[in-house]
Amino acid sequence: MRYRRWMIAALATAATLMPIAATTDALAREGKIMVDQEVSTEVIALVGGNVVDVDTGKVTMNATVLVSGGRISAVGPAAAITIPADARQVSMTGRWLIPGLMNMHTHYGLKLPGAAGAALVNETDPQQVLRMAGNARKSLLAGVTTTRSTGEDHGNDFALRAGIERGDVIGPRILTAGEIIVPTGGHGSLEADGPYGLATAVRKQIKYGADWIKIAISGGISDTHGAIGAAPMTDEELSTLIEVAHRNGIPVTAHNGSAQAAQQALKFDIDCFEHGYYLDDAALQLMKKKGVWLVPTIVVSQPGAKEFYKKIGSPAWYLARVDSTGKEHWAMLEKAIRLGVNIALGTDQFPFEPNDGTTATVAEAELYVKAGMTPLQALRSGTTETARMLKIDDMTGRIKPGLAADIVAVNANPVENISALRTIDFVMKDGRIYRDDKTGLIAQ
Ligand SMILES: [Zn+2]
Repeated sequence: MRYRRWMIAALATAATLMPIAATTDALAREGKIMVDQEVSTEVIALVGGNVVDVDTGKVTMNATVLVSGGRISAVGPAAAITIPADARQVSMTGRWLIPGLMNMHTHYGLKLPGAAGAALVNETDPQQVLRMAGNARKSLLAGVTTTRSTGEDHGNDFALRAGIERGDVIGPRILTAGEIIVPTGGHGSLEADGPYGLATAVRKQIKYGADWIKIAISGGISDTHGAIGAAPMTDEELSTLIEVAHRNGIPVTAHNGSAQAAQQALKFDIDCFEHGYYLDDAALQLMKKKGVWLVPTIVVSQPGAKEFYKKIGSPAWYLARVDSTGKEHWAMLEKAIRLGVNIALGTDQFPFEPNDGTTATVAEAELYVKAGMTPLQALRSGTTETARMLKIDDMTGRIKPGLAADIVAVNANPVENISALRTIDFVMKDGRIYRDDKTGLIAQ
């Protein structure tokens, strides 16, 4: 009941306080933006762009993409596609079109140790939902059209997702793991102990609408206690938790930096690990064999994040913990790529967070290439592979007829150089254009 009451309060606040239309109108009057007036039932023809097939790496130059009812209805060389007379044509000349990016490790309400986190210590749930909505909007405008939330407070993620689905606010398509379930004292907020306590916690998250279950089976970088390499759950607790989720058709991912905890969770058929800081060869090989996913979030432990930690006023112990973890984390990622472990792109920073002169999402993809992936593999890790992990590859993740029109454009071929992702200047989600730098359109 507590959850439902908070959700209603949060939504009521969002509805009364957000001056979306007023702000948009004011900016439009000043000539700063063009307001996106289209509805997704309109037929849109994206013309003159080069479409990247992320399965083969092949590019169709001067292609036409037809979009109607939010979906892609046709893709092909301009000469082969007839544009309907009533279609609105949008110029893609000089651009390469790729599927909208996906980020599998987000916390829109993220608070970390330091001055920035301390300022949010008394943040109420309604305040947090509004802050999350702002972060969701910025993520979408950065080219990220689908995200998986890996831990938010008190059902605030369900409120945000509902708000986006209703069109009250704009943001990526959200799949969410609800609140992080942990044994008492663990790296997360929803504490539960013993097999029955954990089973109840899992069932509640699923009842509220969780698409995944997120647990923490080792310590985290941002904890003051609990070693990253430890494995504090009992077999009985972990096996029951995973079994209950799976009986409901819900996959389980674990915040995990520990090789020991990995073996334990793999024994009970966990689906995914986040971070994987200290995973060893044996754990990675078993993950490969079982098809278990790794969401590396490599950006958080590498030098590109230094600016971010400075900005949020991180304490010295936190920076030391980042440094000591960074080298092992990197070596683990190189090994995982070499072994061919399933890797889905995720950042643990806001998808749009500045990192190494670009966004965290793009920096993460660049680091995958630096660690051994081809640019095409890195591109897939944030499009087709993420869609496969979420089991939504029949719905999005490719520029193919029948799929959701989630399309991003860049100014060079990312299959040749992954850093082309730094030039994202067009974002479409479900057939609606949210950003087009050619016309100055930016959705509010
Ligand atoms: Zn996280």
